[in-house]
Amino acid sequence: MIQRIPVVEKILSANDRLAEHNRTKLDSAGVFSYNLMASPGAGKTSLIERTIAGLAGRSRVAVIDGDIATSIDADRARAAGAIAVQINTGGECHLDAVMLQSALDTLDLNSVDLLIVENVGNLICPASFKLGTHTSVLIASVPEGDDKPYKYPGMYRGVDALVINKVDLLPYVEFDMEYFRRGVEILNPGLVTFPLSCRTGEGLEAWLEWVAAGRIEEMSAEGSPT
Ligand code: MG
Ligand code: ZN
Repeated sequence: MIQRIPVVEKILSANDRLAEHNRTKLDSAGVFSYNLMASPGAGKTSLIERTIAGLAGRSRVAVIDGDIATSIDADRARAAGAIAVQINTGGECHLDAVMLQSALDTLDLNSVDLLIVENVGNLICPASFKLGTHTSVLIASVPEGDDKPYKYPGMYRGVDALVINKVDLLPYVEFDMEYFRRGVEILNPGLVTFPLSCRTGEGLEAWLEWVAAGRIEEMSAEGSPT
Protein backbone atom coordinates (compact mmCIF):
# COMPACT_ATOMS: atom_id res chain seq x y z
CA MET A 1 0.00 0.00 0.00
CA ILE A 2 1.26 3.46 -0.88
CA GLN A 3 1.19 5.91 1.94
CA ARG A 4 1.00 9.56 1.03
CA ILE A 5 3.14 11.79 3.17
CA PRO A 6 2.07 15.44 3.00
CA VAL A 7 4.96 17.76 2.38
CA VAL A 8 4.43 20.51 4.91
CA GLU A 9 7.77 22.20 4.65
CA LYS A 10 8.67 24.34 1.70
CA ILE A 11 12.12 23.42 0.65
CA LEU A 12 13.85 26.46 -0.71
CA SER A 13 16.15 26.07 -3.61
CA ALA A 14 19.70 27.38 -3.24
CA ASN A 15 18.74 30.43 -5.26
CA ASP A 16 15.71 31.19 -3.11
CA ARG A 17 17.77 30.91 0.05
CA LEU A 18 20.33 33.36 -1.33
CA ALA A 19 17.49 35.66 -2.39
CA GLU A 20 16.33 35.69 1.24
CA HIS A 21 19.86 36.62 2.24
CA ASN A 22 19.93 39.52 -0.25
CA ARG A 23 16.57 40.65 1.02
CA THR A 24 17.77 40.70 4.62
CA LYS A 25 20.77 42.74 3.59
CA LEU A 26 18.58 45.30 1.78
CA ASP A 27 16.12 45.42 4.68
CA SER A 28 18.78 46.06 7.27
CA ALA A 29 20.25 48.88 5.15
CA GLY A 30 16.76 50.36 4.68
CA VAL A 31 16.96 50.06 0.89
CA PHE A 32 13.71 49.44 -0.99
CA SER A 33 14.30 47.58 -4.22
CA TYR A 34 12.70 46.91 -7.60
CA ASN A 35 13.38 44.11 -10.07
CA LEU A 36 12.67 45.49 -13.56
CA MET A 37 11.96 42.91 -16.22
CA ALA A 38 11.05 43.25 -19.90
CA SER A 39 11.89 42.08 -23.36
CA PRO A 40 14.88 43.76 -25.06
CA GLY A 41 14.01 47.26 -26.25
CA ALA A 42 10.89 47.75 -24.13
CA GLY A 43 12.48 50.72 -22.38
CA LYS A 44 13.93 49.48 -19.08
CA THR A 45 16.94 51.75 -19.23
CA SER A 46 14.90 54.69 -20.50
CA LEU A 47 12.46 54.28 -17.62
CA ILE A 48 15.38 54.08 -15.21
CA GLU A 49 16.81 57.34 -16.60
CA ARG A 50 13.42 59.02 -16.23
CA THR A 51 13.03 57.64 -12.71
CA ILE A 52 16.44 58.84 -11.55
CA ALA A 53 15.73 62.32 -12.94
CA GLY A 54 12.20 62.36 -11.51
CA LEU A 55 13.33 61.38 -8.02
CA ALA A 56 16.37 63.68 -7.91
CA GLY A 57 16.48 65.42 -4.54
CA ARG A 58 13.85 63.03 -3.13
CA SER A 59 15.53 59.62 -3.11
CA ARG A 60 19.07 58.44 -3.59
CA VAL A 61 18.87 55.83 -6.32
CA ALA A 62 21.30 53.03 -7.12
CA VAL A 63 21.03 50.88 -10.23
CA ILE A 64 22.31 47.37 -10.84
CA ASP A 65 22.27 46.54 -14.54
CA GLY A 66 22.27 43.04 -15.89
CA ASP A 67 23.32 42.43 -19.47
CA ILE A 68 25.03 39.66 -21.34
CA ALA A 69 27.74 42.11 -22.43
CA THR A 70 28.78 45.80 -22.35
CA SER A 71 28.31 48.48 -19.68
CA ILE A 72 26.10 50.68 -21.88
CA ASP A 73 23.13 50.62 -19.50
CA ALA A 74 25.10 51.24 -16.30
CA ASP A 75 26.88 54.11 -18.07
CA ARG A 76 23.49 55.61 -18.93
CA ALA A 77 22.22 55.23 -15.35
CA ARG A 78 25.41 56.85 -14.05
CA ALA A 79 25.09 59.70 -16.54
CA ALA A 80 21.53 60.21 -15.28
CA GLY A 81 22.87 60.67 -11.75
CA ALA A 82 22.68 57.28 -10.03
CA ILE A 83 25.28 55.06 -8.50
CA ALA A 84 25.41 52.20 -10.99
CA VAL A 85 26.94 48.76 -11.14
CA GLN A 86 27.02 46.61 -14.27
CA ILE A 87 26.75 42.85 -14.11
CA ASN A 88 27.82 40.99 -17.26
CA THR A 89 26.20 37.61 -17.13
CA GLY A 90 28.57 36.11 -19.72
CA GLY A 91 25.79 34.57 -21.75
CA GLU A 92 23.18 33.89 -19.07
CA CYS A 93 19.82 35.29 -20.13
CA HIS A 94 18.69 36.26 -16.63
CA LEU A 95 20.03 37.52 -13.32
CA ASP A 96 20.08 35.25 -10.29
CA ALA A 97 20.53 35.78 -6.57
CA VAL A 98 24.28 35.02 -6.67
CA MET A 99 24.88 37.72 -9.26
CA LEU A 100 22.86 40.21 -7.26
CA GLN A 101 24.74 39.30 -4.11
CA SER A 102 28.11 40.12 -5.67
CA ALA A 103 26.78 43.40 -7.06
CA LEU A 104 25.34 44.35 -3.65
CA ASP A 105 28.75 43.75 -2.11
CA THR A 106 30.21 46.56 -4.25
CA LEU A 107 27.61 49.14 -3.15
CA ASP A 108 27.54 51.33 -0.05
CA LEU A 109 23.91 50.56 0.74
CA ASN A 110 23.80 53.05 3.60
CA SER A 111 23.94 55.90 1.10
CA VAL A 112 21.09 54.48 -0.97
CA ASP A 113 17.30 54.80 -0.56
CA LEU A 114 16.05 52.96 -3.63
CA LEU A 115 17.68 50.21 -5.65
CA ILE A 116 16.57 49.45 -9.18
CA VAL A 117 17.76 46.18 -10.66
CA GLU A 118 17.54 46.04 -14.44
CA ASN A 119 17.23 42.40 -15.36
CA VAL A 120 18.41 40.92 -18.66
CA GLY A 121 15.97 41.61 -21.51
CA ASN A 122 13.95 38.40 -21.64
CA LEU A 123 10.32 37.50 -20.91
CA ILE A 124 10.96 33.92 -19.86
CA CYS A 125 13.50 32.87 -17.26
CA PRO A 126 13.93 36.10 -15.23
CA ALA A 127 10.47 35.23 -13.87
CA SER A 128 11.85 32.01 -12.33
CA PHE A 129 14.88 33.40 -10.51
CA LYS A 130 14.19 35.36 -7.37
CA LEU A 131 16.79 37.99 -6.59
CA GLY A 132 15.71 39.15 -3.16
CA THR A 133 14.20 42.46 -4.26
CA HIS A 134 10.98 43.76 -2.70
CA THR A 135 8.91 44.35 -5.80
CA SER A 136 8.95 43.12 -9.38
CA VAL A 137 7.90 45.30 -12.28
CA LEU A 138 7.30 44.27 -15.87
CA ILE A 139 7.63 46.78 -18.67
CA ALA A 140 5.60 46.01 -21.75
CA SER A 141 5.73 48.30 -24.76
CA VAL A 142 3.27 49.06 -27.51
CA PRO A 143 5.48 47.98 -30.47
CA GLU A 144 5.88 44.49 -28.96
CA GLY A 145 2.25 43.78 -29.70
CA ASP A 146 -0.91 43.20 -27.68
CA ASP A 147 -0.58 39.39 -27.53
CA LYS A 148 2.32 39.22 -25.08
CA PRO A 149 0.31 38.43 -21.91
CA TYR A 150 -1.15 35.44 -23.73
CA LYS A 151 2.25 34.24 -24.92
CA TYR A 152 4.28 34.83 -21.76
CA PRO A 153 1.82 34.06 -18.93
CA GLY A 154 4.52 33.14 -16.41
CA MET A 155 6.02 36.61 -16.55
CA TYR A 156 2.71 38.47 -16.39
CA ARG A 157 1.39 36.28 -13.59
CA GLY A 158 4.31 36.86 -11.24
CA VAL A 159 4.83 40.62 -11.22
CA ASP A 160 3.65 43.28 -8.75
CA ALA A 161 3.26 46.11 -11.25
CA LEU A 162 3.10 46.67 -14.98
CA VAL A 163 4.32 49.58 -17.07
CA ILE A 164 3.00 49.95 -20.62
CA ASN A 165 5.66 52.05 -22.31
CA LYS A 166 5.62 53.90 -25.66
CA VAL A 167 1.91 54.78 -25.53
CA ASP A 168 2.80 57.72 -27.79
CA LEU A 169 3.08 55.13 -30.58
CA LEU A 170 -0.52 53.90 -30.20
CA PRO A 171 -1.76 55.90 -33.22
CA TYR A 172 0.88 54.30 -35.46
CA VAL A 173 0.96 50.69 -34.26
CA GLU A 174 -1.65 47.99 -34.30
CA PHE A 175 -2.17 47.47 -30.58
CA ASP A 176 -5.56 46.66 -29.08
CA MET A 177 -5.31 47.99 -25.52
CA GLU A 178 -8.55 46.27 -24.47
CA TYR A 179 -7.33 42.89 -25.69
CA PHE A 180 -3.95 43.39 -24.02
CA ARG A 181 -5.44 44.41 -20.68
CA ARG A 182 -7.97 41.60 -20.76
CA GLY A 183 -5.08 39.14 -21.06
CA VAL A 184 -3.30 40.76 -18.13
CA GLU A 185 -6.45 40.75 -15.99
CA ILE A 186 -6.91 37.00 -16.43
CA LEU A 187 -3.36 36.28 -15.28
CA ASN A 188 -2.92 38.96 -12.64
CA PRO A 189 -6.24 40.47 -11.54
CA GLY A 190 -6.10 44.08 -10.41
CA LEU A 191 -2.44 44.47 -11.34
CA VAL A 192 -1.33 48.07 -10.79
CA THR A 193 -0.60 49.42 -14.27
CA PHE A 194 1.10 52.55 -15.56
CA PRO A 195 0.57 53.43 -19.22
CA LEU A 196 3.28 55.98 -20.06
CA SER A 197 5.81 57.19 -22.55
CA CYS A 198 9.44 57.63 -21.60
CA ARG A 199 9.88 59.67 -24.78
CA THR A 200 7.13 62.26 -24.25
CA GLY A 201 6.92 62.00 -20.46
CA GLU A 202 3.14 61.42 -20.42
CA GLY A 203 2.00 59.19 -17.56
CA LEU A 204 5.33 59.40 -15.74
CA GLU A 205 4.03 61.30 -12.72
CA ALA A 206 1.87 58.39 -11.48
CA TRP A 207 4.77 55.98 -11.92
CA LEU A 208 7.16 58.24 -10.01
CA GLU A 209 4.70 58.63 -7.14
CA TRP A 210 4.36 54.86 -6.91
CA VAL A 211 8.11 54.23 -7.00
CA ALA A 212 8.83 56.93 -4.44
CA ALA A 213 6.20 55.45 -2.11
CA GLY A 214 8.07 52.13 -1.87
CA ARG A 215 8.79 51.54 1.79
CA ILE A 216 10.06 48.69 3.87
CA GLU A 217 7.30 47.74 6.27
CA GLU A 218 8.92 47.33 9.65
CA MET A 219 6.85 44.46 10.94
CA SER A 220 5.87 42.65 7.77
CA ALA A 221 7.06 39.16 7.19
CA GLU A 222 4.62 38.97 4.30
CA GLY A 223 5.90 39.92 0.88
CA SER A 224 8.39 37.28 -0.10
CA PRO A 225 11.47 38.26 -2.11
CA THR A 226 10.94 38.82 -5.83
MG1 MG B 1 18.62 48.27 -20.91
ZN1 ZN C 1 17.82 32.80 -18.54
